[in-house]
Amino acid sequence: MEDDKLHWVVTLNRRNRTVFFALLFPVLGTHLLVIQAGAAMWALLALQLLVYPHFAYWRARRAADPLRAEMQNLLLDGVLLGMWIAVWGLPLWISFMLFIGVCLNVVIFMGLSGMWKGLLALASGVAVVALANGGLAFHPQTTLATSLLCILLLTLYLLFFAQGAYERGLSLRESRRQLGDRLEEITALQAQLQEQALRDPLTGLYNRRYLDQTLQRALSDCAASGTPLALVLIDIDRFKRINDTYGHPAGDEMIRRLGDLLGERVRDAGPVVCRYGGEEFLLMLPGTTLDAAAALAEELRVAFESTEVAVGGHRMRTTLSSGISGFPEHPAQPELLVRLADQALYKAKLGGRNRVVRSTDAGILQMGS
Ligand code: GH3
Ligand code: MG
Ligand code: MG
Repeated sequence: MEDDKLHWVVTLNRRNRTVFFALLFPVLGTHLLVIQAGAAMWALLALQLLVYPHFAYWRARRAADPLRAEMQNLLLDGVLLGMWIAVWGLPLWISFMLFIGVCLNVVIFMGLSGMWKGLLALASGVAVVALANGGLAFHPQTTLATSLLCILLLTLYLLFFAQGAYERGLSLRESRRQLGDRLEEITALQAQLQEQALRDPLTGLYNRRYLDQTLQRALSDCAASGTPLALVLIDIDRFKRINDTYGHPAGDEMIRRLGDLLGERVRDAGPVVCRYGGEEFLLMLPGTTLDAAAALAEELRVAFESTEVAVGGHRMRTTLSSGISGFPEHPAQPELLVRLADQALYKAKLGGRNRVVRSTDAGILQMGS
């Protein structure tokens, strides 16, 4: 497995084990000198402290589950170090230092509940030697130099762990901050997307999807409170001619201008101005009677009639027709009200365009009402 893909615990332990086992060598060496150890013991200790860390890393690295293998390595450390302290007759400072070292590692990676595994590992190492030798020697003494070196190395080890915990805390805080920032960005983006999904890009007005979402609720509210609600369906007259004569971009500009006009004239919070289709707009006017809506539509008709749109050196002008329906003249049903407004609009077109027709005007087919 590649180094950068290995679990961070494996790479961290590789460094810790290599550095601290190497530092252990001179510390334990002072004890070997005192007990006048033979060449074999020196060689074995060198193997244990200078070669074994690389073996442990190699084992974790080639394992299918490197983290699991590394946890086993920690326990193997315990068994091997337990064997060494048993061989030396459980010298107090050396045993204490190695005991703390092994337990700290196990607790840091497995939690306090894993500590008994560390203890068991050390005890098994001791037991192996005791069984092999038919008993345990007991030489708790070490020289002052060895004891001091053990204290020094243990202190260094503890400080090193504390520094590691501090750095992990820092990076955790940093990750949390970055995560918070990302979350804010995503939330803002989500709101923006939601808004975009309900807006028409050409005019910036709401689109049909938004109207479909709001009309039912607005009608229910009006029905519950006995407030009127009017719909004004607006269609540009002879729009195809504008496109055909001046081009599609000129047609777009005309649509935009009518959108601006509607946005300017219908400003209150309750009403919704939406681009309902190509050159069709729909006004949803809660709290407005059918007659008031007709008056507004007439105002808009007059204003649009005199609106001149200049594009590419051409001056264009056209008219609009409106169909109006409303509650309580008709039942508070969204689809029915839209259909009635559409029928009124059709009547306005048939009647010669550039006019406003109410759904209640004579001759309008009031299907389903
Ligand atoms: P009428 O008075 O009967 O409404 O005549 P009209 O020509 O306006 O009628 P029609 O509904 O047949 O034509 C609408 C045209 O609008 C057809 C389509 O090409 C054009 N159109 C639809 N959406 C857009 C748009 O976003 N931009 C432009 N430039 N044209 C569009
Ligand atoms: Mg049309
Ligand atoms: Mg039209």
